[in-house]
Amino acid sequence: MIVVRVALPVPLRQHFDYLISPGYTPQPGCRVLVPFGNRKLVGLIWQLSPPDSYDTSKLKPVISLLDNAPVLPVLLCQLLSFAADYYHHPLGEVLISALPALLREGRNLNDYQPKAYCLTDAGKQLNPSALKRSQKQHALWQALQANGLSESVLRQQHSRTTLKQLLDKDLVEEQLVPASPFTPPAAPASGLRLTNNQALAVAAVVQAFGRFERLLLEGVTGSGKTEVYLQSIASLLCQRQQVLVIVPEIGLTPQTLARFQARFDVPVLCWHSALSDSERLHCWLQASSGAAAIIVGTRSALFLPFWRLGLIIIDEEHDQSLKQQDGFRYHARDLAIKRAALQHCPILLGSATPSLESLHNALTKRFIHLPLPDRAAGQALPTFELVNLKQQVLQFGLASQTLAKVKHQLTLGHQVMLFLNRRGFAPALSCQECGWLTECHRCSAFTTYHKQSRQLVCHHCGASKAIPRQCGGCGSTQLKPLGQGTEQLEENLQRLFTNIAITRLDRDSTRRKGALNEALEDIHQPGARLIVGTQMLAKGHHFPNVSLVVIVDVDAALYSSDFRAPEQLAQLLTQVAGRAGRGSIGGNVLLQTQYPDHTLLQDIIQNGYASFARSALSERKQTRLPPYQHLALFSAEAHQSEQCQQWLQQLADCASQHPALQLLGPIPAPMERRAGKYRWQLQLYSPARSNMHLALDALLQHISSWPLSRRIKWQLDVDPTDL
Ligand code: ADP
Ligand code: ZN
Ligand code: ZN
Repeated sequence: MIVVRVALPVPLRQHFDYLISPGYTPQPGCRVLVPFGNRKLVGLIWQLSPPDSYDTSKLKPVISLLDNAPVLPVLLCQLLSFAADYYHHPLGEVLISALPALLREGRNLNDYQPKAYCLTDAGKQLNPSALKRSQKQHALWQALQANGLSESVLRQQHSRTTLKQLLDKDLVEEQLVPASPFTPPAAPASGLRLTNNQALAVAAVVQAFGRFERLLLEGVTGSGKTEVYLQSIASLLCQRQQVLVIVPEIGLTPQTLARFQARFDVPVLCWHSALSDSERLHCWLQASSGAAAIIVGTRSALFLPFWRLGLIIIDEEHDQSLKQQDGFRYHARDLAIKRAALQHCPILLGSATPSLESLHNALTKRFIHLPLPDRAAGQALPTFELVNLKQQVLQFGLASQTLAKVKHQLTLGHQVMLFLNRRGFAPALSCQECGWLTECHRCSAFTTYHKQSRQLVCHHCGASKAIPRQCGGCGSTQLKPLGQGTEQLEENLQRLFTNIAITRLDRDSTRRKGALNEALEDIHQPGARLIVGTQMLAKGHHFPNVSLVVIVDVDAALYSSDFRAPEQLAQLLTQVAGRAGRGSIGGNVLLQTQYPDHTLLQDIIQNGYASFARSALSERKQTRLPPYQHLALFSAEAHQSEQCQQWLQQLADCASQHPALQLLGPIPAPMERRAGKYRWQLQLYSPARSNMHLALDALLQHISSWPLSRRIKWQLDVDPTDL
């Protein structure tokens, strides 16, 4: 019997060994079906004949070996094992989560591979008269005479039933078609004439082909970063190498995918969460066989197997959505860098507003720094103007000078974009008599009033309920919306500008399938238009007709306890502003605030993101915050606040014995209660990564022995981006 060590999708930090009879040839990376308690689980063989010597007579045999060749290549196993160690997450969950759902369920891989059909010997020798009675079978038999037919061709002219009949009679047999990698283009696709800086950037990427190199493309909005990606890729495709492009949210930027597809005459596939399970497996197989040349996908595309990966690009590398925020909390940028290292290929990170981590790496020469300080087609960057809201009478949250400028741009036939990071009609309903506010009873938060769907919705736990008729405090029926969300802003603006088309872009307005594309098409129509939206507007869109951007309210974001808040606000403001003036018309940005003297706002509008980021870095250095120290976050959730506190205090007592760690906490999470549970956290800082990891390993050992650990919900987040 052979002993195999199997990774299973269970939240346990341990190995599971099973037996396989000697007739089989299992390999690491193959799936097995195994008994686990009273369940059957699909697992992945991780090791053959594990070295620990012990009594194997108690081991159970596997139920079946599902693959005769590994479904996860060695390189991916290495990457995932690194990730499990780095994020201190159970290996089984990490490995299995990298497989497409259909493979996780134990489906047969061959069922999804391209197939062809041809005649068996019996089929070839068949007397034609034998099939006389079925014209359909006869027709298929004849069609298969010369050569076999691929499944897709066969399907066009013959039915599945007919095929099955011939298969059952052993006249036809099925064959797997060896997948063939894509045909490389004969010459690189031509593109725009590059600016000097773009050309330097492309040359640097091309120079790095064939080895591990990290490059940061720091290009202002509209500087032509995408053109740099496209032209870097062009020559790689001729060498028949594949490219992985990771974008934050593909659904929001169908334009990006379209630009790749339009430029290259090779298969470009996309990968994201809206695909069906079989579409995902198809993409996975195409990447693995090399049939796909370019994959444009969201963060989990990082775990796709590739036939020959030559370059990884991460667009908008600062974007928060690259970090998975629950379960296996990995950062796609950081793991993609690790993957490039294993793969010996370069990785190109691009952003107008690079994360302070990446910028730090570029400034300290760990990354090659490629700046694009100017817009590609010579347009000026938008100019900022602060609008002081103090002592102003506002109409619909807009100052009179803001409204005048909006009007003016509309009369010129331009588009105006109004950014308000609050969806719904109003952040709460309030009682006119006693001041009572609609609150979520499960979270420390108010519930948002949605007028169109006539609901109160909690944006934190998703709970929704009908609009109350009466105040929950005094019983008055005088309930009024308090504050303004995008739904209300749209309604108000339509009242003011009766003849102007308005497009709203937020999660509510784009929920229906196809709605986002329709909205984007509308925005590309010429003519005056108002665009109202949330941070969805910030996501890399190219809106050439927008001449004015109004940031309706920044103040809520100015004062936050998260040390990353200024960085995130600066990124958001710069990205939103970057939608202005991208076409032939210039662009302005109006920033409405009660705090026009705030240093962050002053820094951004006078010096721009690049300067802000550099001074923010020196502040982080002084205060010993990431990237100058490493951070890990333990969080605890329970119905009783005391349990969280007690558990984290126990952890803090343990951790404080580690000289390498500095602690902050236990403290309540910024949102102290969510979905009915109290939340607390403990932050651990360490100057050296290796010490941090040793300390975490030791702490996790302790944790597993505490009875309380099983009664609360706890999590560890390494390099958290959200405190
Ligand atoms: P970014 O991704 O940096 O925001 P894009 O790649 O979307 O910028 O480019 C912005 C605009 O500039 C696009 O319309 C693009 O076609 C144009 N552009 C890019 N590079 C050049 C160039 N070298 N010459 C002229 N126009 C360019
Ligand atoms: Zn809630
Ligand atoms: Zn009341």
